[in-house]
Amino acid sequence: MDKIDVNFKKIIENLDSIVLAVDYDNKIVFANKYFCTLFNTNCELIKGKNLYDFLPENADTVALKDYTYKITKFDDEFYSYYYLTVIDNQLEKVYSDFISTVSHELRTPLTSIRGFADTMLMSYDKLDKAQIQKFLTIIKEQSNRLIKLVENLLSISKIQVQHSNLVFKSVNAKSQIEQVADILKNQYPTHPFEIKCEQNVPNILVDENKFQQIMINLLDNAAKYSYEKGSITVSISNAIKENFVSIKVEDHGVGIEPQNLSKIFEKFTRIENHLTRKTQGSGLGLYIVKNLIEKMGGQICVKSSTELPNSGSVFEILMPVASYTSQSKKKLEDK
Ligand code: ADP
Repeated sequence: MDKIDVNFKKIIENLDSIVLAVDYDNKIVFANKYFCTLFNTNCELIKGKNLYDFLPENADTVALKDYTYKITKFDDEFYSYYYLTVIDNQLEKVYSDFISTVSHELRTPLTSIRGFADTMLMSYDKLDKAQIQKFLTIIKEQSNRLIKLVENLLSISKIQVQHSNLVFKSVNAKSQIEQVADILKNQYPTHPFEIKCEQNVPNILVDENKFQQIMINLLDNAAKYSYEKGSITVSISNAIKENFVSIKVEDHGVGIEPQNLSKIFEKFTRIENHLTRKTQGSGLGLYIVKNLIEKMGGQICVKSSTELPNSGSVFEILMPVASYTSQSKKKLEDK
């Protein structure tokens, strides 16, 4: 048990900068979520590790992953705190990358919606029923894509200000996933979607809209990064971890190379493969998925391979069982 004030800890836990606390021996006693995500580790497992395994001694700055951070150190009576912020000019680059990704992602579907609406307005008397239906379907699909992007952007701004407004309730995972799969079946008519559900799987405790957003992102990716006709299976079962439900989304697509597995959950990260070049995406989906799952007390992990052309990937999420305890709900709402 560390001696950090509970309220102070709540503030630094979710800060969009790195915060570490170390004891007189330079052993880590606390690391916030930003740090643990960056090093793809668990905030509990990191405790007791040596600070200098992660930061250089006596340095003012440090390069970690894609950015350089300024190190500020301050002490209280028990610990030394290290506060690391991205150096400003890099934030400008992040901001400009963000604007260009988002503009591109907005412009592509909008151009297509305007183009098809124009064609229909200008030549509606020359188009047959099948053509009209085809154009309206494209307009609908592109509007769905825009809605997904806007929802992802709203989520990311909420994640950044740590204001999540989650409304928890007891939800049947299978029926929620069926609704999401229906939307995606329309969007990807050549992919067979299958939902398997073990008997006696209890309800989960989630925010219904956010849970659907998570599933839309995972199923959309499963289809986007698979070849035509590649099957997608969602398996719902009681997790090995007690009081959790496991939901696995399995595809037979391009897969992800082992060295990229930790990067896919980072903001704006798209991994190059021959399908990423052809598909639309902002690199925000999995970042949001992971954040939302963790905010709802769940976990996500991925297994993937690129050994065979269609080895594919399995994204597994664990969500807390609804009846688990009403206290766990309260704890999550307090977060
Ligand atoms: P986006 O799909 O918008 O690029 P995501 O954050 O959803 O962004 O995914 C990040 C990256 O992870 C993708 O660009 C892709 O390279 C990889 N990825 C995600 N899901 C899969 C999957 N099911 N199979 C293969 N690669 C995937």
